[in-house]
Amino acid sequence: MSLILTIIIQMKSDFISMISHEFRTPLTVIQGYAGLLKEEPNMPEKNKSKLKLIIEESKHLREIIDKLLEVSRIEAGDMALHKSKYNLSNNLRKLFESWARLCEKNHKYSIEIGSDIEILADQTLIRTVITNLLSNAHKYTQEGGTIDIELTDHNDHIQFKIKDNGIGISKEDQTQIFNLFYLADKGFAREADRMGLGLFTTKKIIEMHNGKVWCESEKGKGSTFCFTLPTERAIAFFES
Ligand code: ADP
Repeated sequence: MSLILTIIIQMKSDFISMISHEFRTPLTVIQGYAGLLKEEPNMPEKNKSKLKLIIEESKHLREIIDKLLEVSRIEAGDMALHKSKYNLSNNLRKLFESWARLCEKNHKYSIEIGSDIEILADQTLIRTVITNLLSNAHKYTQEGGTIDIELTDHNDHIQFKIKDNGIGISKEDQTQIFNLFYLADKGFAREADRMGLGLFTTKKIIEMHNGKVWCESEKGKGSTFCFTLPTERAIAFFES
């Protein structure tokens, strides 16, 4: 990579990081006061829905800022892994249960989780990956659609798979969706919800764990996203 390109990438990453930090402080104040107002006993009914909107939108903004910060850390090579051995089966079950409670599109879920699958990984970052893939399946699948989740143990690696029957991704877009800020299907209605950050972060995190992530999809028919991670057995074998 040329020196100029390296400098530009560094400047972009510094810029994202600076903006995100600058946005965080006023947003914390907005969220704090909105939270206090919500507790007011005499709040007029007509103001409650406006306040709800402020709270929801600031939560959304906070999520975007956190994602941007994550991206700038990844780009600066500044993201440390804090690996520990943990039970991904239990972890996924809990994550799915609390996540599904918040979903509002009447999706039909099936979930098959192999028992007691243990991995050596950064629990917070793997949670980010799974949340990104769950949110995408939710976002890009119509009301009443289906989402199937599977976690399987293949001895030297584990595989997570999430299959939806949503809008799907064209072959051409499939080659680019893991790039930063890339949005496939530009005409998709909910443009405001889309940043093109999640899959970039997902890929980087999985690669940092020596795993693989990929997508299989057909436009109009749905998408399947998979990632693998080496098991502790495989890591021990390669490190010995
Ligand atoms: P975002 O969803 O915030 O735009 P992502 O990086 O997670 O960002 O995804 C990049 C693009 O890939 C999305 O804009 C969308 O066009 C496409 N995409 C991701 N997941 C799916 C999915 N399950 N079904 C259809 N399209 C998807």
